[in-house]
Amino acid sequence: MSFPESNLTYKILKAATEGNYAVPAFNVYNTDALLGAIRAAEELNAPCMVEVFPWSLHFQGGEFIRFAAEACHNAKVPIALHLDHCLEEEDINTALELPFDSIMVDAGTSDPDTNIAFVASVVGRAAAKGITIEAEMGRINGSEDGLPPVNMEELYTDPEYAAEFMTRTGAHFLAPSFGNVHGPYPEGGPLKYWQLDRIAKIKELCPSEIPLVIHGTNPIVQQLIDKMINLGARKINMNRNLYVYYRKFLAENSETLEMTKLQEGAVEAFKKGAMEGLRITHCDGKYIK
Ligand SMILES: [Zn+2]
Repeated sequence: MSFPESNLTYKILKAATEGNYAVPAFNVYNTDALLGAIRAAEELNAPCMVEVFPWSLHFQGGEFIRFAAEACHNAKVPIALHLDHCLEEEDINTALELPFDSIMVDAGTSDPDTNIAFVASVVGRAAAKGITIEAEMGRINGSEDGLPPVNMEELYTDPEYAAEFMTRTGAHFLAPSFGNVHGPYPEGGPLKYWQLDRIAKIKELCPSEIPLVIHGTNPIVQQLIDKMINLGARKINMNRNLYVYYRKFLAENSETLEMTKLQEGAVEAFKKGAMEGLRITHCDGKYIK
């Protein structure tokens, strides 16, 4: 099968487009979350994605990425491994030598032509490795665990420029900035800040096969996710809200349980949060062998 149809992220998001659902991309930091995400997806027969930050490249190294890829790719359901918010060229170089299915290139800081040339060059190099590229357009503000804080003025994705950008770079997935922020929202939350009209316009002008990726889903609002799915969102990033049960379990049990029991319980606790994420995006039960 030719590229990018042979790429796992591409296949998962294409199936989601055909079925009009989305998949969560779970931000994982360790094996508890990795195993919890995989077990949740297997139990609900749900295709999904697991993602790490460049932090993992540095803190845990390539061995962890290879382990994560092996675990994802041997699951009973399709699970792609993705690198979220790759900002540094050196990290991109490292990532292209690792078994990622897709990489988010976060180059929203440079001027348009430089940005397009840069992303296009990464798309070309990644294609040679069988890896697809998610591109950020505009700037999704705020910070989250594993990412440096961003202190820029809010910059929304311009729909016309988005269409030009995606065509000229050849990037496969688009993460627009439409009032979404990383981390907690100010008063009013996503309901107040998400610009659905902007998303609709982006979808209208961009090549129709481009799936949209939603960042900044804390808190996650079912009603908004459903609207986003109808507007073409196929990958929903999830981070902080996934760890609520996990952190609570560890806080309550870390001093009393033996390490084996503590690990098993922690995986179960993460799995509970992940299962909610799979149901919210409606990908549960969607994997057909
Ligand atoms: Zn993000």
